[in-house]
Order: sequence, then C-alpha cells, then structure tokens
Amino acid sequence: MVKLEEYKYLTENRPIEKPPLPALVYIPLSQHLGKAGNPAVKPGDTVSLGQKLTASDASMYVPVHACVSGKVTAIQDWPHPVLGRAKAIVIENDGLDRRPSSVVPRPAEEIDKLTAEQIRGIVFEAGVVGMGGASFPTHIKLNPPKPVDTLIINAAECEPYLTADYRLMVEKTAEIVAGIGLAARCLGVKNVYIAVEDNKPEAIEAFSHKSQVTSHKLKVLKSQYPQGGERQLIKNILRKEVPRGKLPLDVGVVVHNVGTVFAIYEAVYLNKPLYERVVTVTGSILSNPKNLLARIGTPIKELIDFCGPQKEEPAKIIVGGPMMGITQYSDSVPVIKSTTGIILMNKKEATRHKEAFCIRCGACVRECPAGLMPCLLNLASEKGLWSQAKSYGVLDCIECGLCSYVCPASRNLVQWIKRAKLEVK
Ligand code: SF4
Ligand code: SF4
Repeated sequence: MVKLEEYKYLTENRPIEKPPLPALVYIPLSQHLGKAGNPAVKPGDTVSLGQKLTASDASMYVPVHACVSGKVTAIQDWPHPVLGRAKAIVIENDGLDRRPSSVVPRPAEEIDKLTAEQIRGIVFEAGVVGMGGASFPTHIKLNPPKPVDTLIINAAECEPYLTADYRLMVEKTAEIVAGIGLAARCLGVKNVYIAVEDNKPEAIEAFSHKSQVTSHKLKVLKSQYPQGGERQLIKNILRKEVPRGKLPLDVGVVVHNVGTVFAIYEAVYLNKPLYERVVTVTGSILSNPKNLLARIGTPIKELIDFCGPQKEEPAKIIVGGPMMGITQYSDSVPVIKSTTGIILMNKKEATRHKEAFCIRCGACVRECPAGLMPCLLNLASEKGLWSQAKSYGVLDCIECGLCSYVCPASRNLVQWIKRAKLEVK
C-alpha cells in the first residue's frame, strides 16, 4: 500500500449542502451489479417522489425510484457514467416533491419487532446497493449463504479527493450507528468493527463517543491506498487472509460501506427509498468545491455549475475517485447510486507520460494488494491469452489502479487487466 497525495483538504470541512433541484432528471434502469428492471411507468405518467419505477423477477434485480415528483417525458438511451450509454427514465420535475401521505417514518416499536427477513425486504424495496462504488445488492449481502461472525463497516474512504463518507460520518453519526445495528441484526453477528483512516479526526471523535454506548469497536487505520479494499481491511483488522478465488464470507466476514448502512437506516427508519446520496464535487479548477446531497438522476453538469465558476476548462472529468473512477466523455451523465465523487482536472493534472516498454523493475508486483503480477497480466491481456490471465489470478484484481500509478514506464496496466477480467468472466 502507498501513501498518495490526498487533496481532501478541498472539501473535508465543507458541510453537506443541498443543490437546487434539476428541471429534468435521467434515472438509469441499470445502477447495480445485476439485472436491470423493466420500466413500470410510461411517458405521460405522473410520478411521486420515491415511487418505484421498475419491476422484475430476476434474482439480482434491485428497483430504482423517482428522485423528484413530476411527469415521465421519455424512456430513452442516455449517457451513463459506468456503462457509456443505457436506458434512462426521464422525469420533468414539478418542483413539489410530492409523496403519498401514507409514506411516514416507521415507529420505533415496529422497528424493534422486525425480523431479519423483513429488514432485508425493506432494504430491497428501497433499492439499496453498495454505496462505495461496487453497487452489489445490499439485501443479498445481508443474507450470506453461510454463517458469518463479523461485520466490518468500511469507513476508510482511501481514494484521494473524496470526502462524502467523511462528512456523512461527522454529520450523521447516530443514524449510521442505527443502520449498523440493523445490518448486524440481519447477519446475526456480535463482532462489529468500524474501520476509519487516521486522516478523519472528527469522524474518529464522533464514533469514539458512540462506541462508548454501543458494542462496536472503532479501528483507526493508517491512511494509505487501498486501505478500503475488503481484503485489506480484513487482513489489517482481523489478521485473516481471504484465500485467492474466495470471498470475505469464506472467512466469516461481511463488509459494508458506511454510506450503505446509512441508506439502510433511511430505508427502515424513515421509509425512504434510495433516491439521493452525498457526492463530493471537487478539483482545483472549481471555485467552490463541495459535498452535495444530490438526487440520483441529476446530470453532473448541474452539480459542477453549482460548485463553479470554473477557473479553467477541465481536461478530464472523472466520476468516482481518481484511482478507481471512470473518465467521462459527457457532462450529461447523471449521478447514480454508486457515484461517490465528481473530479475535474486541468491539463497538467490530467496528463500522463507516454507509455514505454516494461523495464521489469517489479514495482507493480511489490505494490499489488491482491498479490498479483500486473506486468504479466498486462502481457497476457495484450496478447489475448485469456486462460493464462485466468491462471495468473486476474479475477482477484480489485481494480485499485495502484500498479499503473507506481509503474515508471507509465504502462496502462489496469486498463489491460480490466479487459482481461471482462474476457475471463
Ligand atoms: S493488478 Fe489489480 S489489484 Fe493489483 S495493483 Fe493492479 S489494479 Fe490493483
Ligand atoms: S511497474 Fe511497470 S515497468 Fe515495472 S515491472 Fe511493472 S509493468 Fe514493468
């Protein structure tokens, strides 16, 4: 693991703000790892805030919801921050945020009586998925196929620039702790760790107070990248190795992101589907970088404009962190459930050196947190040797980008490795 330049100072002390609501929102049908649903509305329909917009019987399906009230104007192809282009439901915002009067917060006594199955049902209906970027359906992760004994809350937020989780921890500590309680109940675990990096002093203080009244153990970890990888957390906290080709649950552990447990809290306590999330909008070229509570479906251009004016034209816009995020070709892409950040870079910041031949220095091998040989995976991928890439363990790559970052020859290692992963899958 390595210490990266952080740039969190741009937004870490900026409290979460609500940007103006967009006139039009574009809600992609596909926002999670699994099957997208089919539209359950059609152009011309009126929808309320939080209304379910899709339906499906598929096993890995998770619904998406209206993030505003208004009228469906189209269901069309639209730029997507992960998939390039995908079908999206377009809603014209009526500005009223209408919700049915029957949708009210759940009484505490009702929550106390909920079974694990009922909690998972509520989490599914609310469309909750992994909020750290992975987008795995949360109701499935709350129902592991084998017994587990430990829950780790991933509050590391090790990507440079991003501070959305940090602000959430500082401003919504009690709600996060309530969400952790629900997740632990579903999993039937008593060992709960909250993993925070040592560069988040206010969050550490907030959780230290809460830990005195709960059984959660706070683990303060060194700030280094990729500290927030599931395998790295398990190794650093429990001193357990997840064997190659296995999952955390094979060593009795489930890891949930801190934003995900907050979404579980909102779904169960507030009866609120996942239609908004905290996004860090940042970069040195923005005059007012911020942490924003953005409605899912908002075109990122609107959020960027809200954080402007821009001091110069961006040469690169990344959705996610600078290490694992995806460079965008359009600022029309909407915020989706996994959007942790939007980063604008100028030409100097975005420039990479020209790719050169591998000098066999071994730096990528030394730093790979998954114990892989990225230089060999790169070669196998360039030559289309997919079975060789598989035997080298390509599926264990967590796409952290560290190999590319440390490579003195500026090899595009992670791009080739991602390609090989897709082919092998
Ligand atoms: S091979 Fe994958 S896991 Fe290893 S450093 Fe590169 S991107 Fe990270
Ligand atoms: S870090 Fe780059 S130059 Fe060094 S071995 Fe890996 S691919 Fe080759």
